[in-house]
Amino acid sequence: MKIGLPKEIKVKENRVALTPGGVATLVRRGHTVLVERGAGIGSGFQDGEYEAAGASMGTAAEAWAAEMVVKVKEPIEAEYGFLREDLLLFTYLHLAADRPLTERLLESGTTSVAYETVQVEDGSLPLLTPMSEVAGRLAVQAGAYYLQKPNGGRGVLLGGVPGVQPGHVLVIGGGVVGTNAAKMAMGLGAKVTVLDVNQKRLAYLDDVFFGRLTTMMSSEANIRALLPETDLLIGGVLIPGAKAPHLVTRDMLSLMQEGSVIVDVAVDQGGCVETIKPTTHDDPVYTIDGVIHYGVANMPGAVPRTSTFALTNATFPYVAMLADQGLDALARSAALRKGLNTRGGKLTFAGVGEAFGLES
Ligand code: NAD
Repeated sequence: MKIGLPKEIKVKENRVALTPGGVATLVRRGHTVLVERGAGIGSGFQDGEYEAAGASMGTAAEAWAAEMVVKVKEPIEAEYGFLREDLLLFTYLHLAADRPLTERLLESGTTSVAYETVQVEDGSLPLLTPMSEVAGRLAVQAGAYYLQKPNGGRGVLLGGVPGVQPGHVLVIGGGVVGTNAAKMAMGLGAKVTVLDVNQKRLAYLDDVFFGRLTTMMSSEANIRALLPETDLLIGGVLIPGAKAPHLVTRDMLSLMQEGSVIVDVAVDQGGCVETIKPTTHDDPVYTIDGVIHYGVANMPGAVPRTSTFALTNATFPYVAMLADQGLDALARSAALRKGLNTRGGKLTFAGVGEAFGLES
């Protein structure tokens, strides 16, 4: 199969969907890989490394002309023109929060498989996990930075010092993002509370971290009670393929202290905080009612070297299946089938249809 690897053009996105090592494996299996010049630069891979791996180097249009295009982020407007009926697109899509792209994929008839909805038997999302690990850990670093006075925050050191209370980190959603955020926050010495609606998840966190964090059922009453003492709120809620519910509403901001910080990692699914909107690494924060909001939708892009290895470790087996078997891979792999979001002008993933009132 001809596989295209375009350079990511979203602001400050430096990851790349295949490493030279991955390209070499595909070429050994008899595939042709067309890499856009400079595609790997942001992750520290030179064109020469891809060439040595057996890739043909070319332009964006040449990479996009391949039968299958593998990417990291969803196509942005400048890339919409490359979408077409005989294209198989394998990338993060997050369609439930992106109506214009959903419409373009449907109009063009593109077959799109979304990393974030590929799901294995135990219900976990193997292609979301590595980036959630990165984003959860980064959320604490970003939050700690913006809590500092010169950066607009209320001047709280998350770890405190002997004789002084540590900061309080409230994590909503105790999944992969939430657990990694909690680990980092505990590592810094912060007081940590994790909320979830899944009792099993709370029991797991309690088992693993007993005594070092507090778990509570996620409810409006509990959130309202915790907000006045929260220095850093981290949102990590996910309902797979659907928009995140607004658990912290605009009126609830007034319960928080001035200079406290919200990092809503779930912003790529609409966010679990009503007032969050997507921001970029160039301009990551804004303030509403005295509360700093951080809504970077591609947080792992800040650490592209780590993120590219973490992502491609997880995606490569699926890229290889699609390359070897083409669309038959969708028939053979239940996990990949769950990833199918659009095909032949039809929505094939229910959560996206529900978000827009479209038929799926
Ligand atoms: P996950 O499925 O591992 O965890 C989500 C958790 O949310 C689950 O434990 C679930 O029970 C819980 N949940 C559902 N409804 C809830 C509610 N009402 N209250 C509290 N908890 C609730 O998902 P994840 O991998 O941790 O991802 C979380 C979000 O982060 C996703 O939207 C994902 O797309 C996003 N994400 C964003 C970035 C970024 O750069 N901004 C990077 C990675 C992941």
